[in-house]
Amino acid sequence: MSELLIVGGGIMGLWAAVMAGRAGIQTCLVERSSTGAGASGGLLGALMPHMPDRWNAKKQFQFDALVALEDEIAELQRATGLSADYRRCGRIMPLGKAHLREIALGHEQDAAQHWVSSERRFHWHVRDVDSGRDWPAAEAASFGIAHDTLAARVAPRRLVQALKTALAKFPHVRVEEGAEVASLDPPRGRLLLADGRAVSFGHCILSAGVESFGLIDRLAHSAQAPSGGAVKGQAALLNADIDPASPIIFTDGLYIVAHEDGHVAIGSTSENRFDEPYSTDDQLDALIRRAEALAPALRGAQVLERWAGLRPKATGREPIVGRHPDHGSLSVLTGGFKVSFGMAHALARFVIDDIIGRPTIELPESFACAHHIAALRQQGPHPA
Ligand SMILES: Cc1cc2nc3c(=O)[nH]c(=O)nc-3n(C[C@H](O)[C@H](O)[C@H](O)COP(=O)(O)OP(=O)(O)OC[C@H]3O[C@@H](n4cnc5c(N)ncnc54)[C@H](O)[C@@H]3O)c2cc1C
Repeated sequence: MSELLIVGGGIMGLWAAVMAGRAGIQTCLVERSSTGAGASGGLLGALMPHMPDRWNAKKQFQFDALVALEDEIAELQRATGLSADYRRCGRIMPLGKAHLREIALGHEQDAAQHWVSSERRFHWHVRDVDSGRDWPAAEAASFGIAHDTLAARVAPRRLVQALKTALAKFPHVRVEEGAEVASLDPPRGRLLLADGRAVSFGHCILSAGVESFGLIDRLAHSAQAPSGGAVKGQAALLNADIDPASPIIFTDGLYIVAHEDGHVAIGSTSENRFDEPYSTDDQLDALIRRAEALAPALRGAQVLERWAGLRPKATGREPIVGRHPDHGSLSVLTGGFKVSFGMAHALARFVIDDIIGRPTIELPESFACAHHIAALRQQGPHPA
């Protein structure tokens, strides 16, 4: 096949390029800024499973992806000699109300049934908070904690760097930074760059994060609702000397993620309306205060960095993956919203397998690009 062109060098595009590189495909990844410049260049890197109840194809896909990621990253680290600071650290959710403990006890059973791979079992334990550890503070966990052993974390920027370094080892993969795609023309197998250049492709993968949606919508022949939008998130990195093996603490949208070298990431706001996409404000201060109350060891820790980014959220919330129904030479790989880091490798594998016609993993129907486009057409155009 003539060249595969990947648009966007975030976690989605980079994994797609690595999978293409492994498959021996002549590939060019074009990135308007630098790899990891979008949402993937953040601080958190939590790899969080869905709840183990009401099991379905989507949860099974994510479970398989989370299990497989450990080996994928080990292979990446072997190939590059770089660490992505991956650790299956688990997750603690404080139970502040009696009914939450009841629900969590149900999840213990659900996890025993569903969090099982061919080689491993993962658990969801309901127990009392460790006294004297303050991770989390006992006051926040009056009814104990739910502790799962499936969640993990990775350092986003290190993973981006490892993926980029892996690409440099494939002679048939190029990365062109500073090249912005202005429009796609799949019927002619070409796209236009903002600098006026036209670039031909045999196949194109659109993985431009939040910018993917506008590029998809401009291809629509009939009235169609917007394919997605941006949800802003703010996060901070603290220097707190916490044991890097500590589980993630998660409650009510607040994540506390202990990383290597004593750093702790705090996230994240979830803002559907915002004026300044890339600035931080008092909402982040409030989040840090909540984190300090939940984990007193963070009190007074130096804030090393404040960061904001835009999550790609597809209309209908599920990722948009696979061939565009009207354009066989275009595949879409976006909309990972809050869970891209745990699934990007698996979604990218599906897209590359599909392009070369190799047997592949089963994609949940609700993720398929064709499914999304059909649903958008039913909704019709969005009122202006
Ligand atoms: C505060 C915050 C915390 C988060 N925490 C987590 C977490 O703990 N775990 C998790 O899994 N997810 C988390 N997420 C979500 C996650 O970061 C995103 O879902 C993910 O990074 C999206 O990856 P992507 O490759 O689709 O998009 P991006 O990383 O945004 O990459 C898209 C790339 O395309 C490039 N691009 C855009 N337009 C063009 C164009 N026209 N031409 C060429 N290139 C273009 C951009 O420059 C960018 O580099 C968080 C997000 C935020 C904001």
